[in-house]
Amino acid sequence: MNNIEFDKRHIWHPYTSATEPLPCYEVTGAAGVELTLATGEVLVDGMSSWWAAIHGYNHPVLNNAAKQQLDDFAHVMFGGITHQPAITLTKQLLNMVPAGLNRVFLADSGSVSVEVAIKMALQYFACQGQPNKHKILSPRNGYHGDTFAAMSVCDPINGMHSLFKNVLAEQVFAPAPQTRFGQTWNEDDILPLQELLEKHQHELAALILEPIVQGAGGMRMYHPEFLRRARQLCDEYDVLLIVDEIATGFGRTGKLFGCDHAQITPDIMCLGKALTGGYMTMATTICTEDVALGVCQGAPGVFMHGPTYMGNPLACAVASASLSLIEQGDWQTQVPNIERWLNHYLAPCAELSAVADVRVLGAIGVVETKTPVDVAKIQAHFVQAGVWIRPFGKLVYVMPPFISKEHHIKQLANAIYTALK
Ligand SMILES: *Cc1c(COP(=O)(O)O)cnc(C)c1O
Repeated sequence: MNNIEFDKRHIWHPYTSATEPLPCYEVTGAAGVELTLATGEVLVDGMSSWWAAIHGYNHPVLNNAAKQQLDDFAHVMFGGITHQPAITLTKQLLNMVPAGLNRVFLADSGSVSVEVAIKMALQYFACQGQPNKHKILSPRNGYHGDTFAAMSVCDPINGMHSLFKNVLAEQVFAPAPQTRFGQTWNEDDILPLQELLEKHQHELAALILEPIVQGAGGMRMYHPEFLRRARQLCDEYDVLLIVDEIATGFGRTGKLFGCDHAQITPDIMCLGKALTGGYMTMATTICTEDVALGVCQGAPGVFMHGPTYMGNPLACAVASASLSLIEQGDWQTQVPNIERWLNHYLAPCAELSAVADVRVLGAIGVVETKTPVDVAKIQAHFVQAGVWIRPFGKLVYVMPPFISKEHHIKQLANAIYTALK
């Protein structure tokens, strides 16, 4: 049995059928912006391995960080133990995130960091003697992960709500932000959120949202004023603001964080994906001193969460190296360049009859089609065109590594154009 056959028979892939799986491509190497397939093709990567590999693959600085830490020690429990990689990483994070955030919980994946954020918000109000404030408000079209609390705040239509109706916590949903990034702000856009906060404040612990770009729930880019107003409203109605920066964090939207477009500080922030530059799984939930103290007031007096691999030193060391590359600042010219190239080379797609919309922000380019694409078919075309792009539904989108050059972006955009044509 060859690898592809074996894989098909025994290995689960993301959102894939066990009986009729979509075709899989075997990768044998990855360096810079290129993936090499077992069949010999070399593909320009348009996905950064789902927002993560911002510096490209096989990066010498990240490789070195992993190797050095490996020779020191790979892992120790975090209960009662600390270590330099966690200290260094936390210092760097606190220097980057909006002022006021200052307690860092190291989680093992994005979904877990969202679970932790929601648990913090619930425990915060439970410990203030307000256990009735236990629901979460979330705009539609959101995506926050695949675990149960995270699923409960994902978009109720394109998420998994109907499938797990009986077990998912019932949350409160607001209409998605309507004013697009770059459009003139429409004051009506914030009214539904205000009405829901007014009506449900007694039972709401938090508002959770993805700042500026809603990712997997629709790849929608919205006006920073929505975020600014959401912050004000949360203060007004005594509801915590959880900002899920797992996709938007670390420069992807043109600012270091989505929050920076609106210059706000959330009460709780989730980071993941690009945190380790795409090397290994790690995420973090960062909260303000007020939240941390609130959570630990009264019984049980501690925050009730602690993953086995919490603060994994290998992941911390690589994340720290990745943040050092970000601190050097090249992303501040790379991302606007990619934005310009995406705007230029994706523009012709808008003329195609199959295309409903083309939109770009930072190093994110989205072509929305009128009907869902045939993933197997379009992927075969992309591989033939020398690119790696993985669409879902009506969304053909790219978020390439920041080190991508103009000719890479051109190749990605041309492949999308010819596929949709
Ligand atoms: C990917 C993602 C998550 C989930 O992260 P995982 O590491 O896949 O668990 C949560 N929120 C947002 C906004 C994401 O893009």
